[in-house]
This record gives sequence, structure tokens and C-alpha cells, in this order.
Amino acid sequence: MQSKTIVVLGGGVGGLVAANELRRRLSRDHRIMIVEKNSQHAFAPSFLWLMTGERRPEEISRDVQQLVLKGVELLHGEALRIDLAAHRVETSAGSLTYDFLVVALGAELAPDSIPGLAESAQTFYTFDGAAKLRNVLRDLNGGKIAIVVASLPFKCPAAPYEGAMLIADLFNKRGLRNKVDIHLFTPEPLPMPVAGPELGNAVRKAVEDRSVIFHPLQKLTEVNPATRTISFEGKEPFVYDLLIAVPPHRSPLVVREAGLANQGGWVPVDSATLATRDENVYAIGDITAIPLPGRWKPDVPMMLPKAGVFAHAQALVVARRIADRISGKEAGDKFSGEGYCMLEAGGHLAGFASGQFLAEPSPQIKLRQIGRSWHLGKVLFEKWWLATPGVKKESLQLLMELGAKVLRIPAALG
Ligand SMILES: Cc1cc2nc3c(=O)[nH]c(=O)nc-3n(C[C@H](O)[C@H](O)[C@H](O)COP(=O)(O)OP(=O)(O)OC[C@H]3O[C@@H](n4cnc5c(N)ncnc54)[C@H](O)[C@@H]3O)c2cc1C
Repeated sequence: MQSKTIVVLGGGVGGLVAANELRRRLSRDHRIMIVEKNSQHAFAPSFLWLMTGERRPEEISRDVQQLVLKGVELLHGEALRIDLAAHRVETSAGSLTYDFLVVALGAELAPDSIPGLAESAQTFYTFDGAAKLRNVLRDLNGGKIAIVVASLPFKCPAAPYEGAMLIADLFNKRGLRNKVDIHLFTPEPLPMPVAGPELGNAVRKAVEDRSVIFHPLQKLTEVNPATRTISFEGKEPFVYDLLIAVPPHRSPLVVREAGLANQGGWVPVDSATLATRDENVYAIGDITAIPLPGRWKPDVPMMLPKAGVFAHAQALVVARRIADRISGKEAGDKFSGEGYCMLEAGGHLAGFASGQFLAEPSPQIKLRQIGRSWHLGKVLFEKWWLATPGVKKESLQLLMELGAKVLRIPAALG
């Protein structure tokens, strides 16, 4: 069999899972390469615990090299240009040719795209931002906190709501909850609208039960750092003491320039196979645009949420399909749209939303009651994700599979 080269762009959630699964499936005759611009990988769901002080930075980050299987070549560099016709990628560390390309470059944050936002806002959407915000929150003894979702789409639809509940819990523990007003502004009509009104209203209630003031349908236009004022389209401005933003998201330039993206900058793919318009190029995770059945209108596009759980499941599908194609088998694996989310509520409690996001005629998502087991599940997943491939990781995997069986939930592992 002729030796093939598979290049995976991006060593985040999707890229790591895809490269490792390819290594497990293919013989050493085939090369598997990851191109990743950062030498460190941080587990994003734990940014919230970094913010609250429940994790230290070193507890939630690893060298990318520690997370890849032996035999996966890690190229530390930035992907600069994708030449689809020549099957070539130019990177800051040299040029690579591929037989198959997996684009897993995620979404980048663009705080500069809203006037005044970059210089005024804190964020828990980055590793450094969450570490800094922890100190800012520790030094705050009162005032108005505005948590603002700057624009749609954004990754992890639950995270702003989790952030608000965790910040409320933090001030509760410090005995200062009555000195702090927490406001949450979002362009969404209700929390996590992709999951439907029942779940959205349940999350809204959970947030409001913690005295967080919810402001839906607020489209951020600018921030005035001098007067600490945030302005919204057609709505009253708001004066804050502390501004925490979910910054606008956009796709990396290299993807837009490659001609793979739609007008919004995201990559349309076949929702089952994750193939792009080029048959040897797949895209997975946050970079993709997958319309949701029954929830998609041309003027209000509602897409599959940008979440690690989907990047992970899609990575397994793509790796298996590529391995099958190389081995001359019919590629059978398909992405089903099944997903879940543990929603941190503070006090070591979490809710659990799960279901079929691509179900016809519309997504079928259920929220299970808030409890301790979902929080423990998230902690276990964190430990598993950050473990180096080997005996410890395998033991954690067994534990997770057992837990998933007991709780009757899916365990998307690989
Ligand atoms: C605060 C927070 C909480 C979250 N919680 C959850 C959760 O509980 N559950 C959940 O499912 N999801 C959660 N997410 C979302 C999840 O982290 C993302 O959806 C997931 O990481 C997407 O995976 P990806 O592979 O598409 O992109 P990423 O994991 O972002 O990986 C993209 C990689 O590409 C690299 N890269 C980008 N451009 C280049 C380039 N030009 N050259 C080389 N490398 C490049 C980046 O450095 C990065 O490593 C959360 C996110 C945040 C911010």
C-alpha cells in the first residue's frame, strides 16, 4: 500500500483527537502530522475554575507534545496558506504536502472588532484572561458586574451562564453577594436557544434564582472606557464597574483565504462526513458551519453549537473515514449530532443537557436536574483529557465509561 501523509491543522480538541485516532488506526507507513502554533494546550472548560481560583494555571495546561501519541509528528508553527490545488500547506516552519487534510483551526477571538471592547473588558474565554480575572474578582468588593456576550456565534453556548452562576457563588462565599449586582447581556432571546425554549427557560431560571439579572436581545455596539458605559443597538446604555466579555469570534484568516469558508467565514461541511467541497479535505469543530434542522432560517442562521464535545466526536468520525479510505474499505462512520454539556452552577453542582442536535424536524435536547454527579463527571473528564496517553489515561477512561453507564449518558471518548 502506498504511504500517505495526513496533515492536521490545529492541535486543539479536534486536532488532537483526530491525529491520535489516525495513529491508532493506521500503520507506521503513513505519516500523521499536526501543525499547531502554540506549544501549550489548555483545557478550556476549566477556564471557569481558573477564574474562581479552584484551579491553578499549571493544573489545566500541558505541553501539546504530552497529549499526542508516539508516531504523531508535531510541527510547532503557524499555518499561513492552504493551497488546495497543490495539496500543500505553507507554515511558518516550512511547507508540507498532504494526501488528506483535516482543518481543525477553531475560532479566534476578535475583541478589536467592537470599539472600546479590547481595552475595557476582562474575559474568561482565554487562559490568560481567566487567570487575570481571578485577581480582579478577588480584589472587587462591590459594584456592578456586566457579563456581555458581544456577538453570535460564540463557543460553548452554556459558558456565559456558567460564568455568571460561578461569579455569583464566589461572592456568596465571600459574604459579599448583596454588595454586587451581576448583569448578563446577550444578543440571544434566551439562554442556549439552539436547545429550544424549554431548556432555555430552565437555564434562565437557574441564573435568575442566583439573582443574576438577565438582559436578552442586546446587541453590543461599543464600549466607552472613560465613562465605563456599554451601548447596545436600540437599547439603554449601561454603566458598569467591571466588564467581562465573551469577545466576538471569527475564523482564522488562513481558512478564509483558502476559499473553504462561507460568507460568514465558517467552513460548510457535509454534516455526516465532515467533508468540505474538496474530497480530500475535512473540517471539524468550531471552524465548521452545520445548519440545524428546523432551527435554520437564512436571515437568522442557527448552527450546530461550537463545542468541544462536537469537535471530539467529529474528529473520531473523520479519522476513521480517512483510515478506511486509505485501507480501501468503504468509509462507514458518520457524525450523528449527539452531544452533551455539563453546566456548572456553583457550589460544586452542575446541570446536564444532552440530546440529538441534528434530529429531524428539530433538535431534541433535555436538561437533567442540577446535582453533584454532573460536576464530578466534568472533573473526571478534565483529568482524563489532560492525562498523557498511557496506563493512567486508560484507567480514567474505564472510570468514565463506568460512570456514563451508571448515569445512562454517552461517553464520547477516543
Ligand atoms: C470558557 C470556555 C468553556 C468551554 N466549555 C466547554 C464545555 O464545557 N464543553 C464543550 O464541549 N466545549 C466547551 N468549550 C468549547 C471548546 O473549548 C471548543 O469548542 C473546542 O476547543 C473546539 O475545538 P476545535 O478543535 O475546533 O478548536 P480549538 O480547540 O480551539 O483548537 C484550535 C487550535 O488551532 C490552533 N491554531 C489556530 N490557528 C492556527 C494557525 N494558523 N496555525 C496553527 N495553529 C493554529 C490553536 O492554537 C488551537 O490550538 C468551552 C470554551 C470556552 C472558551
